[in-house]
Amino acid sequence: MDDYIPISKINDFLFCPYSVYLHSVYERFSQRVYHSTPQTIGKIYHQTIEEKKYTTSKFILQGINVYSPKYNLLGKIDIFDTKNGALAERKYKVKKIFDGYKYQLYAQMFCLEEMGYKVKKLFIHSLSDNKRYKIPLPNKNEINKFEMLIEKINNYQASQKYPKNLNKCAKCIYKPLCH
Ligand code: SF4
Repeated sequence: MDDYIPISKINDFLFCPYSVYLHSVYERFSQRVYHSTPQTIGKIYHQTIEEKKYTTSKFILQGINVYSPKYNLLGKIDIFDTKNGALAERKYKVKKIFDGYKYQLYAQMFCLEEMGYKVKKLFIHSLSDNKRYKIPLPNKNEINKFEMLIEKINNYQASQKYPKNLNKCAKCIYKPLCH
């Protein structure tokens, strides 16, 4: 694994730890080669954020790099409104709020807080149907679970055995590479 944990990999790790390993092996190739269609669409939406086309308000931070020395996390936030403390992550299509989505938001929140911002609200925004899901701020129990997950990611070895979930494997873009 990298020395730091890319925030974007938290959800992938929860989907399947081995997929993160395969992603790291193949990411040096052109992204067009291995990105599936939903991922490519999601990426195009994120490019809008990264190119700062979404808003010019001086209260909105968008697509900025964030880092947490405490958790050794590195990544980008999607949109943070410094006025009302609302942090939002936009995804192309959200059918269900997976734990990975929540933990990615927590990771962004912890980074922002270490940078001196106060995060008061968390949202996941589904772009395709324009739905906004409010995510509660993490309580002590959720923070403990988050910290255990970070520890697992830090200690992960590609040779580790892990239970396979055939439903996930059927949807996995790395299936042809996985044995
Ligand atoms: S095919 Fe299955 S085991 Fe292999 S990386 Fe994908 S989800 Fe994981």
